[in-house]
Amino acid sequence: MSTVVLIGCSSYKTDTVYAAVRAGIELLGGTAAFVKAGEKILLKPNMLAARAPELAVTTHPAVFEAAARIFQEAGAILSYGDSPGYDRPAHAARVAGIAEIAEKLGVSVADFETAAPAQVAEAAGAPVSFPIAKGVREADGLISLCKMKTHSLTRITGALKNQLGCLTGFEKARLHVRNPNPQKFSSRLALITKIVNPRLYIMDGVTAMEGEGPSGGNPVGMGVLLFSRDPVALDAVFCRLIDLDPAYVPTIAEGQALGLGTKDGVTLVGDPAENFVKPDFDVVRKPVTGDILFRPLRPLKNSIIPRPVIAAAKCEKCGVCVRACPAEPVKALAFPGGGRAAAPVYDYSRCIRCYCCQEMCPHRAVSVKTPLFGRIITRLLGKF
Ligand code: SF4
Ligand code: SF4
Repeated sequence: MSTVVLIGCSSYKTDTVYAAVRAGIELLGGTAAFVKAGEKILLKPNMLAARAPELAVTTHPAVFEAAARIFQEAGAILSYGDSPGYDRPAHAARVAGIAEIAEKLGVSVADFETAAPAQVAEAAGAPVSFPIAKGVREADGLISLCKMKTHSLTRITGALKNQLGCLTGFEKARLHVRNPNPQKFSSRLALITKIVNPRLYIMDGVTAMEGEGPSGGNPVGMGVLLFSRDPVALDAVFCRLIDLDPAYVPTIAEGQALGLGTKDGVTLVGDPAENFVKPDFDVVRKPVTGDILFRPLRPLKNSIIPRPVIAAAKCEKCGVCVRACPAEPVKALAFPGGGRAAAPVYDYSRCIRCYCCQEMCPHRAVSVKTPLFGRIITRLLGKF
């Protein structure tokens, strides 16, 4: 049985967050349950993109600061890092406000630009290898500082998905290309989590993101920090708070299948979960698509599966989405005519529905929409 701690936290004031993080860790046995003095511990915040803290794209620097101070007080030698989806790690850390805190506290920057392969066994026993950031490999242990957000591909991005950033640079996009099916992609996330094996997960849900997450959604106050050793249980509790069936989150099923934790019979400790329930949280409450499409419908998948759409009026023609698109050998979107007179145009026949373009657009111009035929099929079959 797994334990998840919930601690109310009404703001990002430094002292408030420090007290809440301290209380959460104490309820799981204190810092001694996670680190020994002198160990090299990596803090892994969510630094998806170079965005300001108030946009709720990244783990808030106040949560990073609290965790860093508490584990430094326990004698850990700290480093930090993440591999953003598009930006350089140093730039993302600076804009997210994390670099400034790290410099103040003497937390060193871990290498998230070079990687070394690490092997793990799938549930069926077959070995599989992933290029893991050297900064992760060089640490004795990892503490995952994840963010409470929605996600177009996996419904939520929380504890389990935070480890995707342990792959460097374009390796993350390559993972999408090799595993376009959401369930398969989630099974790879579970394997990466098994390799890097965080000792503790702290989820920043003081201000969460709803709607078009993980970067284009809206900040929403949830006023809570979650703590657990079990990423499956933690994500399942996040689902409970937002009235989302955990069965709709493929990372939860795949994490549980790999033995990373359990969504069932979770013990809740700390403040009552009812204090933080938000049933109108804006999240898609239906299963993800993928190979679950019936075989007869597969030729029509471009008209069924939700697809990215650019709002031309919001598009600044920066080209980030085009550069981020991992589709091979030809990208699935391009500027018409090669110039930048108009917004990029999609070729949905090449699109693998990874939604990296939506994730990376710095101007919130890309949204994910289900085509009319897909909406009709959804109604008729009660699926997708
Ligand atoms: S859709 Fe977004 S990322 Fe793509 S060119 Fe327009 S503003 Fe840039
Ligand atoms: S167009 Fe967007 S959703 Fe399609 S493959 Fe490229 S990045 Fe992924």
